[in-house]
Amino acid sequence: MAIDRKMFVLGLDCAAPRLLFERWKEVLPHFASLMDGGLYGPMRSCDPPITVPAWSVMTTGADPGELGVYGFHNRASHNYFDHFVANGSHIRKPRLWDILSAAGRQSIVIGVPQTFPVKPLRGYMVAGLLARDSDNFTWPARLKQSLLKHVPHYRTDIKDFRHTSPEMLLKALYKMTAARFKWAQHMLKHYPWDFFMLVEIGLDRLHHAFWHYMDEESPYHQTDNPYRQAIRDYYLFLDEELGRLLKILSPATDVMIVSDHGAQTMKGLLRINQWLINEGYLVLKTSPGNSRRLDAAMIDWGKTQVWADGGYYARLYFNVRGREPLGVVPPASLPALKAELEKKLSQLKISGNIPVKGRIIDPGESYREVEGIAPDLMLYVGELAYRVSASVGGAENIFTLNNDTGPDGANHDFDGIFIFKGEGVARGKLTRCDIYDVAPTILARMGQAQVGDMKGRVLG
Ligand SMILES: [Zn+2]
Repeated sequence: MAIDRKMFVLGLDCAAPRLLFERWKEVLPHFASLMDGGLYGPMRSCDPPITVPAWSVMTTGADPGELGVYGFHNRASHNYFDHFVANGSHIRKPRLWDILSAAGRQSIVIGVPQTFPVKPLRGYMVAGLLARDSDNFTWPARLKQSLLKHVPHYRTDIKDFRHTSPEMLLKALYKMTAARFKWAQHMLKHYPWDFFMLVEIGLDRLHHAFWHYMDEESPYHQTDNPYRQAIRDYYLFLDEELGRLLKILSPATDVMIVSDHGAQTMKGLLRINQWLINEGYLVLKTSPGNSRRLDAAMIDWGKTQVWADGGYYARLYFNVRGREPLGVVPPASLPALKAELEKKLSQLKISGNIPVKGRIIDPGESYREVEGIAPDLMLYVGELAYRVSASVGGAENIFTLNNDTGPDGANHDFDGIFIFKGEGVARGKLTRCDIYDVAPTILARMGQAQVGDMKGRVLG
């Protein structure tokens, strides 16, 4: 195998296989040419299928348990509500560019989530999501000056996307994405590299903010809205940007396009903590009155067995005797408690008695190791079509359309995208591949040995 092979990876956060591979393939000529000339298919994300930890899983080949990162927010200790946000400093396994750096190969890494704070590498890095624009988010540090000279309005992300008007957000998204691709073109032409990875976060923000304008099945859909084509137009724009990058690349370069998870219509939210109250697992000191987010001070810990955090999925925590400060659940009864919750949550029903399956993931069984403090159980509601609200009280039902973290039209889906074109790579559609396959495949193509026991297989 040629060991001087160059690899270019474009990551599109949240890119959805149904949109890219089916619905709009014929109007996306550059994506289509890579699909027709290579291997492509839906790529199963990790559990949980969320930006953090998914990009770190993809670039290390390790599972979230081995990384000790179970989402953006993780428990820092067994003290109640003691959380930290997992940034790049919490990833202790070597990522692709660390392995390549050790082997003397040059990498350029732009926009990969969870790469801030930046760490030294052989090459260049512009950190992605979780870096603030005021931070020093490049390696080497002086690269930021060159970046801002070339693209003065470069932004790592649009953090307030759920609370920005659609018109303003669209403008900001196009501006951000165009700047990132312009900088990528510049680096492709003028900086040395063997491995180039560029991740665009804009598509994720667009899906969340605009999905319900496109999708008539969405409970949030408004007929005759002016944004029905907004997502399609942005895919077309991405296709043009991809075309510009492909023009710069040598035909001998391997090209891979990936996403960390997909997207689907958001159907509503389960109020998990209110459900736990109704079922007697969670006891509050006093009734909260109006609907509000659960916090530690509201809870009667001496009577509480389980509480939860919301988001794309629920993290359930047990109040275990000898582990939590005011724990009440004897460790010996944990398996029975888990089984009881799993049974009840698998039989959830929204109004009209329509069943919505709650599926339980037990970190102790799902991961090869459990580093840090994992949730005791994780819960997907309706295969992720429903988000999870942490709110309690008020007059709402267990299922609601009120999002406690701001409006959202899309939820994540388990399958993201995978496209891979290179010399000698098979052509055709894969029925399924896995996010764990990306790192082993890239290392194999670049003639580098794996580090540690990577979970995936080599594709191609
Ligand atoms: Zn994502």
